[in-house]
Amino acid sequence: MEQLREWARSADEAGFPTGLPDGKPRNPVEAVAAPPRVPAEKSEREWFRAACITNIFKETSDSVSFEFEMRDGEAFHAQPGQFVAIRFEIEGHTHERCYAVSSLVSRGEVPRFTVKRVSSGCVSNWCHDHLRCGAWIRVSPPTGQFRLHPLNTERAVFMAAGIGMAPIFPMIKEALLFSERAVRVMIFDRDEESAPFLAPLRAFAERYRDRLDLTEIYVGKAGEVTQDAIADHLAGTCDASIYMCGPPEFMRRAEAAAISVGLCEDRIFVNANAAIPALQMSPNERAQ
Ligand SMILES: Cc1cc2nc3c(=O)[nH]c(=O)nc-3n(C[C@H](O)[C@H](O)[C@H](O)COP(=O)(O)OP(=O)(O)OC[C@H]3O[C@@H](n4cnc5c(N)ncnc54)[C@H](O)[C@@H]3O)c2cc1C
Repeated sequence: MEQLREWARSADEAGFPTGLPDGKPRNPVEAVAAPPRVPAEKSEREWFRAACITNIFKETSDSVSFEFEMRDGEAFHAQPGQFVAIRFEIEGHTHERCYAVSSLVSRGEVPRFTVKRVSSGCVSNWCHDHLRCGAWIRVSPPTGQFRLHPLNTERAVFMAAGIGMAPIFPMIKEALLFSERAVRVMIFDRDEESAPFLAPLRAFAERYRDRLDLTEIYVGKAGEVTQDAIADHLAGTCDASIYMCGPPEFMRRAEAAAISVGLCEDRIFVNANAAIPALQMSPNERAQ
């Protein structure tokens, strides 16, 4: 139990929601993501397919992106906003963790996941320090219902705190490059050195000046953003659909702020990829 609590704390720190803001699915479309469990008709080996790391990019001082290719050129399909479970072999043990697909695979980009270093975290530190090009991992099929609503053609607002930008970034690209939507992006982070994908986002803001409004909100190491401050940033966007991903407290405030400025609840899409603890355990850990 203690381990699960610790785990939940670390997911918090890493910027991923450990539950829905109010403890229940807010929007049926965006209900809790089903864990990528191995279906009865598949073996573990069929479900977790081998993939090779092909490229590595340092995103920020504490986050790194890993591109991968499926073995024998097998297809890998993912919608923007989805995540995968990945198995890593570390010192003779298999560890399984979930990571958002941070590239726009559905439009031909190379599959990629982005790992933030978590203090004393087993897998994140190992990825930063030891996962290199040519190494093999095993990847589940992508899953998760946090996606761009296909019927929504109106303005899209994306809010991300910390590594919460990983699933949001491909959604922004999809909305910007493959629709005519007006897009608003709000980044919440400690400082600009910590904000993943900041350079490409700034480049987009330059290129799509007429359609993209990028707001960067930096709160410093100990700072936090209040609901009122988020509401101020959201003023005038009540006709939009809003997509958000970040730590639970941020999500709670952001969601409440969105409602307070009049955003329709069924247009608020919270990344409810609730971090079901069992999901995060390695097969060895589960067996214990
Ligand atoms: C759907 C989903 C998507 C996600 N997407 C991303 C993503 O895109 N990018 C990303 O970076 N992360 C993502 N995460 C989080 C990610 O899955 C991992 O949880 C994260 O990388 C930390 O894993 P770790 O192995 O480094 O930490 P762990 O080893 O699991 O440790 C977590 C924490 O527990 C503490 N701890 C561990 N064991 C003990 C012990 N015995 N006693 C005391 N303390 C202990 C560690 O100090 C650490 O702080 C996602 C999570 C979910 C659920």
